[in-house]
Amino acid sequence: MNSATSAARIHNYHITMVSDNKKAGPIPCTTTGRNSCWEGCPFYGGPCYGNAFHARLHWDRVSDGRRGYSMDVLCKLIFDIPKYSFIRINQTGDQPRYENGDINLDEALPLAKACRMRKLKAWTYCHHEQTDYNLAALRTLTQEGITTNASCETEEQVDRVYAQGGLAVLVVDPDEKRTKWTTAGGVPVRVCPEQLGLVANCLNCEAYCQKQTTNTGGGTSKPRDCVAFLGHYAPKQIKKLLKELNVR
Ligand code: SF4
Repeated sequence: MNSATSAARIHNYHITMVSDNKKAGPIPCTTTGRNSCWEGCPFYGGPCYGNAFHARLHWDRVSDGRRGYSMDVLCKLIFDIPKYSFIRINQTGDQPRYENGDINLDEALPLAKACRMRKLKAWTYCHHEQTDYNLAALRTLTQEGITTNASCETEEQVDRVYAQGGLAVLVVDPDEKRTKWTTAGGVPVRVCPEQLGLVANCLNCEAYCQKQTTNTGGGTSKPRDCVAFLGHYAPKQIKKLLKELNVR
């Protein structure tokens, strides 16, 4: 069954206009109900940031409908945000989806287009299964208004995403000592500066994860580096998970 015949899941959405998310900083952040997540995500039901106490309380309410609204309402609220603002999409939750795991672009694209119309600097991460269909959907969302990074656990995944013209982030061992390196496939990786104590939050980092390219001088550019996240949240579980995936 493909997305042409698979049923679309109904999701609930929410936006916090000035987030108290310490990592993101005081910017608008959206949340999507838990039923958007891919059941095969290695963090599903486990060491996912969304299961941290305060994040989980909010996510539970958006997931069971006590808080939040439809995508139509969310798109209207986007126009209340000052132009050129940063916005983090899906501080918890993932892209809208079909039952078969395909990303539902009919549902996701209006939000990307609303962000673009409002000239917002929007970004997100996606942990859906990395099928060719879904990786193409991430590139479409990036082109249409929300920089959508594929969330990876291995450098092989990162290399595949970049080889197809996408952008990625990588979870790494919480004890990783390197701050910059290059994958076997030639993709530069740098550790998130907030985790290195170099900036207070994403706002102070000018949302590096939102950028799509890096200037290389002389009017040329290259794809933005992959961002590595030290698995500080639930480090023991993340170490175990990476070991199972045969990551160094
Ligand atoms: S690299 Fe910057 S934008 Fe990305 S998560 Fe870290 S602080 Fe936020």
